[in-house]
Amino acid sequence: MLIAPAFSPVLPAATTPPQVQKPASALAACPGLALVTDPAQPRHGALFKVRINGAPVPASLKGRAAGEPLHFTPTGAGHEAFVAAPIDAAGPLRIVVTCTAPSPSDSIVLDVVLAPADYPLERLTVAPRFSAPPDSALAARMRRESAMAAEVSRRAHDTPRLWTEPFRRPRESRVTSTFGRGREFNGTVTSRHMGTDYAGAVGAPVHAANRGIVRLVDAFFLGGNVVYLDHGAGFVTAYLHLSEQTVAVGDTVEQGAVIGTVGATGRVTGPHLHWITRYGAITVDPASVLRETGRR
Ligand SMILES: [Zn+2]
Repeated sequence: MLIAPAFSPVLPAATTPPQVQKPASALAACPGLALVTDPAQPRHGALFKVRINGAPVPASLKGRAAGEPLHFTPTGAGHEAFVAAPIDAAGPLRIVVTCTAPSPSDSIVLDVVLAPADYPLERLTVAPRFSAPPDSALAARMRRESAMAAEVSRRAHDTPRLWTEPFRRPRESRVTSTFGRGREFNGTVTSRHMGTDYAGAVGAPVHAANRGIVRLVDAFFLGGNVVYLDHGAGFVTAYLHLSEQTVAVGDTVEQGAVIGTVGATGRVTGPHLHWITRYGAITVDPASVLRETGRR
């Protein structure tokens, strides 16, 4: 049940306007190319796809959204890439795609209106040492640990895509807390649950969600014993509160391999697996990763 700092999401209006591409200039910007999102209206905090259809199919396409590079792969009809919508995105999410032909400066811009995120709210009681603001030494430790995780995210964009299969859940057990839930401590919403919790007794196996390279095996203050996997093409998964880590940094693990065991280390009220999925630095709903990587 790891939590993240509070924020105030700005939700779009309840209407569902069509997702319309807008050329960056009125002149010929990537002539013949059309950008479409799948699903048509992506959700805050979710992974989705952007497709380029009807293309002269340039040899290479560069794209960016929410500060993260996009990695296009060819499809029968054109190219597609995964995009992450931040849970706290304010206003439309801008996708910019640059074409190498006919001129390197040509680009198309798509402002994606996101579906309102209606993540539930729950009340929770935690131990006082977690409610009090951290002292400076602890704050420095937590910053250091966040920076290590952020480095894994940065590096994942440079790692080639190591996976071909859809992502799979790391345990077959019951989900005990879903992504995005707001947590209320002492009457105030202070955090969001930025992962999915799976039930498990101490010592139960935790499996790699997909093929990847082990980038981080450490003991974090909040996350306890952690393993971070870099799957390439921007994808990262992390496994928190483990009792044991059974892999080492630099190992390549296959999908389904046991990487550790369920535990109750770090900030927890009991043993469980907290599973994080990220596209670059953006933490997204694991359910969207399972769904979107599983669709053709
Ligand atoms: Zn959790």
